[in-house]
Amino acid sequence: MIMDFSLEKLVRENIKKMTPYSSARHEFTGDASIFLDANENSFGSPLPDNFNRYPDPLQKEVKEKLAQIKGVPAQNIFLGNGSDEAIDLLYRIFCEPGRDNAIIFPPTYGMYEVCAEMNNVKVKKVNLTNDYQLNIDAIEEAIDPFTKLIFICSPNNPTGNSINRADIEIILNNFNGIVMIDEAYINYAKQKTFIAELTEYPNLVVMQTLSKAWGLAGLRLGMAYASIPVIDLMNKVKYPYNINTATQLLVLDALNNIDWVNEHIEVTIHERENLKNDLLNLPSTEIVYPSDSNFLLVKMKNARSIYEELCKKGIIVRDRSKVILCDDCLRITIGTNLENKKLIEALNNF
Ligand code: PMP
Repeated sequence: MIMDFSLEKLVRENIKKMTPYSSARHEFTGDASIFLDANENSFGSPLPDNFNRYPDPLQKEVKEKLAQIKGVPAQNIFLGNGSDEAIDLLYRIFCEPGRDNAIIFPPTYGMYEVCAEMNNVKVKKVNLTNDYQLNIDAIEEAIDPFTKLIFICSPNNPTGNSINRADIEIILNNFNGIVMIDEAYINYAKQKTFIAELTEYPNLVVMQTLSKAWGLAGLRLGMAYASIPVIDLMNKVKYPYNINTATQLLVLDALNNIDWVNEHIEVTIHERENLKNDLLNLPSTEIVYPSDSNFLLVKMKNARSIYEELCKKGIIVRDRSKVILCDDCLRITIGTNLENKKLIEALNNF
């Protein structure tokens, strides 16, 4: 197949035509000392800082800092209220409800399908192979003229493994729609990020999040990296003030602590390997799947009843036993050393 990518053709007509909301903070840039343009509370707020003011709609400072850390120009970064916002926006920008479709590769992250349903977009499912890799022939067959999005999760949730890079490249080179690579767990992986390939592929959107290795799930900050025209479209469609002031301030602070992040990635990987070995020593464990993430997918005898017994002991893991290709599997997040020990202690009773 010859690559014939046209963003102009791909975007929905209504999105092309719409006029985005222009907020007060959008219209004025420059120095001023009296702001009477946004109907804010001029007397302040019960809190310190500038919480009476609307936040920067384009989060320039946060993007500048992320740009330095990631080695990507700030114009190639979109920030969302968690990466889930970016997933939803891609549907809204590219998929005509009731007509277009997206392809996902189960078992995978649930929000790709939830957002499709919310937007009345059909999802075509091409299951991963038994070793949790892409089925390239079946994907080629599934693509039709109305396929606008392909979601690849690497490392994949809930299986934990990275998707073969060469297979992802085949899709990038041959699909004329948008290929979204969800790298939520990339910091734990041996595999390199696809961010460096942005200049190579106009159809590529890479998604990452501060919810995992950065330890900031509560702040809700997800990043999408893409070509400038795609980022501009995402900014056009998003709610004007999608990232609140508290998140922007705290993230700016947190981004100074890259050493903390790297240290805890190492600890997590160390604990992951220990937990894997401990699990393999249990009589109820059948398979511990290879993981490039901060969790393990574990096939166990009677997974559901183990899950229920663990719950009774106040230990909650994720029951994935009814998920396709995950029969009798539990997904276990890597805990602290003590938490992992308590988990193994509890599992020793089965
Ligand atoms: N992608 C994957 C693969 C995930 O597992 C998750 C969270 N479990 C997300 C995205 C969502 O991340 P966020 O907290 O940024 O919405």
